[in-house]
Amino acid sequence: MQNKRLNPFKIAQAQLDESVKKLGLAPRIHRLLRKPMREYRLTILVKMDNGRIKRFKGFRIQYNDARGPCKGGIRFHPEETIDTVRALSAWMTWKTALVDIPLGGAKGGVICNPKTMSGGELERLSRGYIRKIFKYIGPERDIPAPDVYTTPQMMAWMMDEYSKLKGYYCPGVITGKPVEIGGSLGRGDATARGGIYTVREAARHLRLNTKNATVAIQGYGNAGSYAAILSREILGCKVVAVSDTKGGIYNPDGFDPHSVLQHKKKTGSVINFPGAKSITNKDILELDVDILCPAALEYVITKQNAPKVKAKIIAELANGPTTPDADKILYNNKVFVIPDFLCNAGGVTVSYFEWVQNLSNFYWELEEVHQRLDKKMTRAFKDTLNMCLKGKVNMRVAAYMVAVSRVARAMELRGW
Ligand code: NAD
Repeated sequence: MQNKRLNPFKIAQAQLDESVKKLGLAPRIHRLLRKPMREYRLTILVKMDNGRIKRFKGFRIQYNDARGPCKGGIRFHPEETIDTVRALSAWMTWKTALVDIPLGGAKGGVICNPKTMSGGELERLSRGYIRKIFKYIGPERDIPAPDVYTTPQMMAWMMDEYSKLKGYYCPGVITGKPVEIGGSLGRGDATARGGIYTVREAARHLRLNTKNATVAIQGYGNAGSYAAILSREILGCKVVAVSDTKGGIYNPDGFDPHSVLQHKKKTGSVINFPGAKSITNKDILELDVDILCPAALEYVITKQNAPKVKAKIIAELANGPTTPDADKILYNNKVFVIPDFLCNAGGVTVSYFEWVQNLSNFYWELEEVHQRLDKKMTRAFKDTLNMCLKGKVNMRVAAYMVAVSRVARAMELRGW
């Protein structure tokens, strides 16, 4: 999960430093913003199906709660590291501030390989994780959610464990739950939908007609497959290339994203989709398309391939797909980048809506979720674009400047 050469937390700190310099913030505030507020290291003991007890290492990091209770997902991954969790908790802080929801940033993780664990083992690990952090989370304190390799079912177990310890039903402690137990309508495609709203705004700014604009998407999981479906449904785009771990497919006439999804469900991959040519994961990033959407991994656009990117818009649905060197090249080449913590903020925004619905015990129609999400994403995009044009900085630095100034202002007002 952590690239050997690049430490994600160092990158997060460098990005923060640059925006702090541009904003001219006080060194005292800068120091507080550079490090997490609280870090919990956990050992979770789980009885495995063979009767043996296994120890798992876990983390929960609460980066900053100046603007409200902490918010961020829990990852179950064999290569989880504390620096990845730190970086992601910082990015959550900037993300919630950028979309202007009254929450702070956090992240959690457990070093484990869920693919080799049974349902029962995963349930005991999920419940064990909550027992370890029970005292430090809660609807008014820190609200976890699903992330890499954690699912709505695991959120249901975690919410149940927390509620048992509290002695009453507490749906507001965790988001990303199944709809039947307090999940929000519209959470499933929220990340991609939010990203597509920002692509619409970017196209408007660039005067690019999205009708039949060509799209290439790396990754065909939750974010990537919905991005394909919604770019066609909402913007009238033509999805010409998609990929997953096994490789990619290309058809200049475009695909039906639903049929590609059916094919992937049936065969386990997008490859060998009827009528499509194969393409590598490297080539997909360099295709001559209008919109490129990395929706899989971090660090895929680097200084090596950035000069070859031909897309006019890069919509970063994945977290951290572009290295800092590549960013500079893309900016100089006038590629319009919608940075990750703006582009993929739709998920946390609908998570926030879920929490609001849980606290008020009143549930919204799907249409209301979509309308409110559109408003939040469009506002965040416009705030970022204004900062980008005013400060003559790229969209990523602009997004940092908007977000960091909001967190810093909250800290100052609170007298930190
Ligand atoms: P997912 O597991 O559902 O899908 C990931 C996809 O990427 C799969 O299709 C997989 O085959 C593909 N993939 C993995 N390695 C690849 C490789 N080397 N080359 C090409 N494809 C590869 O995950 P997701 O939820 O869609 O998340 C994707 C990205 O979006 C991650 O960076 C995640 O952090 C980010 N993100 C997701 C959400 C969300 O709500 N799902 C929210 C914010 C950010």
